[in-house]
Amino acid sequence: MIRQISVMSGKGGAGKTSVTAALLNLLPQVVAVDADVNASNLPILLTAQKLSESGYYGTEVAQISTESCTACGRCAEICAFAAIRQDEQRKFLVTDDCEGCAACFWICPAQSISMIPHRAGTQYLSRLENGFLLHAELIPGEDNSGKLIANIRELARKVAAEEGLDLILIDGPPGTSCQAIASLTGVDMVLAVVEESLSGLSDYQRLAQLMARFRIPHLVLVNKTGVDPELGKQIETTVTACGGEIIGRIPFDLEIPRALSRRETLLALPAYRPLLENICTRLQTSS
Ligand code: SF4
Ligand code: SF4
Repeated sequence: MIRQISVMSGKGGAGKTSVTAALLNLLPQVVAVDADVNASNLPILLTAQKLSESGYYGTEVAQISTESCTACGRCAEICAFAAIRQDEQRKFLVTDDCEGCAACFWICPAQSISMIPHRAGTQYLSRLENGFLLHAELIPGEDNSGKLIANIRELARKVAAEEGLDLILIDGPPGTSCQAIASLTGVDMVLAVVEESLSGLSDYQRLAQLMARFRIPHLVLVNKTGVDPELGKQIETTVTACGGEIIGRIPFDLEIPRALSRRETLLALPAYRPLLENICTRLQTSS
């Protein structure tokens, strides 16, 4: 059976990706998924060698055949997104504003409109020293990132099954949007990385609501601790009230950003290795 774990944080900058990269370096064999398709950073932090890539087609968009178009204008009239206009030669054409609703396709009396796949990004399979990494790039301004995350998660499951690997570790996107939902549905456990700050606490509460909605158990790693002990206690109480368990704390330590700027993970700092090893064990065994 393939076990799936998501590393999540309610906000950006909590340290989620650096923790994930360190865990990925420690695990003996793993399939990793970088689900932050708007700002994919795991391929930068890990030594990953690209094996293959394929286009991601999010939605279909309309295309007008100028040969058969009679210029009746009905498509432009019905388009709620004002995505059809006439060019200088008064030919009708579809602009980038097309939302793919297909209303024009159905109304065109000359059958001059086709719905064609629209490329919105690229998905990649890369090799890691201890497994594989699925990652993706959404073209800036493109939508449907939830579907792209679902795609690469499905590819990860296929790779894990084919290679006989039983653990998928997902580096989720920050926040609690549809991308976060696409990153945690169906997982066995979430590791929530929570920054010890007021915004970190508030964002954890939102993430905890999401995890409760999907009935996913979670562990909490509190990051950048020690600045405000009172807030630390408040986070502890909140985690318990939300049904989570604090598995560890990483203090506010300037050596960490220094290590990251050298493209090293947290493992470069020996003080954190026992904590990370403990987290790895729990992620592989807890239910
Ligand atoms: S509805 Fe069809 S025929 Fe009429 S302008 Fe649009 S594409 Fe051309
Ligand atoms: S598919 Fe919908 S949004 Fe796109 S051009 Fe046609 S009517 Fe407009």
